Amino acid sequence: MPAGCMVRVKICFSCNREYIGKPKISRRDNKTEICGVCAEFEALRELLIQNIQQPTEAAFETFSQFLSIRFGPLRA
Ligand SMILES: [Zn+2]
Repeated sequence: MPAGCMVRVKICFSCNREYIGKPKISRRDNKTEICGVCAEFEALRELLIQNIQQPTEAAFETFSQFLSIRFGPLRA
């Protein structure tokens, strides 16, 4: 990488893919640097775990929003 290059490519510890930009800190141990997508997945996972015994409409709503953002609109 050339000196002075502002773009820093990092490897995500969670998915092992390269990513650019500020790393997010994993919620699992509060120190591992992961990519934005994995950080979203962890947040989502946490939300689902919190709601697993008492599923709420809000949790499902967030989940479907997340999926449609990542993978496109859900199809029947
Ligand atoms: Zn990742």
